[in-house]
Amino acid sequence: MNIRVGQGFDVHRWVTGRPLILGGIEIPHTHGLLGHSDADVLLHAIADALLGAAGLRDIGHHFPDTDNTYRGIDSRKLLRKAYFYLEEHGWYLVNLDATVICERPKLAIYIPQMVRVIADTLNVRSGQVNIKATTTEKLGFTGRNEGVAAQTVVLIHKPEHHTNKAGMRTPNKTEPKSH
Ligand SMILES: [Zn+2]
Repeated sequence: MNIRVGQGFDVHRWVTGRPLILGGIEIPHTHGLLGHSDADVLLHAIADALLGAAGLRDIGHHFPDTDNTYRGIDSRKLLRKAYFYLEEHGWYLVNLDATVICERPKLAIYIPQMVRVIADTLNVRSGQVNIKATTTEKLGFTGRNEGVAAQTVVLIHKPEHHTNKAGMRTPNKTEPKSH
């Protein structure tokens, strides 16, 4: 089976005067996250997990924060582009599972919308995307409200169109709707 696993981890610091963008949506909050892009810590962790699974390094390599092209950029564009690199190499997402770690704000009500946005960005089904939110019980930097962390694991697969020895190896329903 041509499958790979990948993991991603990212942290951004809370600051005032910026909107909070998380999971591709804007969430009303007193603080936003500091970053060169829109600082969407969740999408960055997902992009890193995808790139890592395919052996394609990380988002810092593909989208360096020294490049003004990416200043303030919508991280959905970075995620889409990262996934495009995977598709170029014949890889497709099986599923992703992500956790956002912060004390505040409470994210539960926003999760269905994040899932839809992420699934749309990757052109996969919502059932392939799972997002969780948790706190660290007021411990550590997330517990002290200094920042937000996100971690993600992904599974990807590469269909073996040409080797079809079993006579049953065809693209399955976990693949994107269009290539
Ligand atoms: Zn980041």
